[in-house]
Amino acid sequence: MRFLVTGGAGFIGSALVRDLIANGEEVVTLDSLTYAGHVESLVDALQSSKHCFERADIRDRATVEEVFQRHQPDIVLHLAAESHVDRSIDSPMDFVTTNVVGTVNMLDAATHHWRGLSGAKKAAFRFLHVSTDEVYGSLGPTGVFTEDTPYQPNSPYSASKASSDHFARAWNRTFGLPVLISHCSNNYGPFQMPEKLIPVIVLAAMEGRPIPIYGTGTNVRDWLFVDDHVSALIAIATKGQPGGIYNVGADQEITNIDMARRICAWMDRLLPDSPHAPHANLIEFVADRPGHDLRYAIDSTRVRNELGWAPRQGLEEGLGRTVRWYVENDWWWRGIRDGGFEDSARQGLSGG
Ligand code: NAD
Repeated sequence: MRFLVTGGAGFIGSALVRDLIANGEEVVTLDSLTYAGHVESLVDALQSSKHCFERADIRDRATVEEVFQRHQPDIVLHLAAESHVDRSIDSPMDFVTTNVVGTVNMLDAATHHWRGLSGAKKAAFRFLHVSTDEVYGSLGPTGVFTEDTPYQPNSPYSASKASSDHFARAWNRTFGLPVLISHCSNNYGPFQMPEKLIPVIVLAAMEGRPIPIYGTGTNVRDWLFVDDHVSALIAIATKGQPGGIYNVGADQEITNIDMARRICAWMDRLLPDSPHAPHANLIEFVADRPGHDLRYAIDSTRVRNELGWAPRQGLEEGLGRTVRWYVENDWWWRGIRDGGFEDSARQGLSGG
């Protein structure tokens, strides 16, 4: 089986590529290496003869088409996206061009490729569009998002993902492309960009800087360990029903302020001699993000019952693993934050 993974140098994509390669699959990673893409996150996968890296931009239709022609993938997992809500407030158009136009390019190129297949290869081809629960908007104190919840995106990021979901659905209904869509809750784990909530807390605590928490910290998120998202994506792409939608979550809801306190408790445990302990003293509330969704919660009954998926990582241990990883791998986050991963290191990676 040959997998084409877009966004494979990002947080979730790199975890997916590492997992597929470790399991002996052939993988083509397509990524343009934006500020969020780092080949350093692919670690051993880069050395594997079963892995090929294509530095390509999904906004460039001709290049995307060439990648399909050259590699003839069996399964596409489409993760490439602009993914940071705060950046979508500052520069919404980047989210339109990559998340919407780029996704349509991917769908269209996949359709041409799929039409050229025959027999068992054509029947087995799948395109998984990886989306987010944020397309459903915000919940009050109760309730959960199901696959039938109406879309109510509130940020430019979630609006762009919602738009791309509609195109993905339309390519299935109009052209018959075997598309599946997944909506996952917030992910956490190693190799997540330093700008996202959990790394922001860990790195600020480690360096003794104020830990910024939006508003009153009462916003609730359901956190899923990234490797559990990866196992869900593989199950959906290989066993899911074409045309189907699958919500993926861990039933691990927690407020942002509780999350910050738990991470600080891990920091106290892992670095008891730090001059910044107790780290919770560093927490500071800052002006809320505009349009900040109050609560997300996911009903993942379908993926659990139909595909036998279940998350394996509990939140407390998963947070401990994550905090420890950032403490032990400063080469990675410092390389990103301080601009140490030079472009020259990436140049040999473009093309076949
Ligand atoms: P990320 O920002 O860490 O990685 C995105 C990757 O896409 C990067 O490697 C980047 O270089 C690449 N990319 C961006 N624009 C591109 C373009 N025009 N052409 C080619 N590559 C491009 O994101 P992530 O957190 O790993 O999220 C991956 C996907 O999962 C996204 O589609 C996101 O919407 C979805 N998702 C994320 C979460 C989460 O909690 N992180 C939850 C649910 C769904």
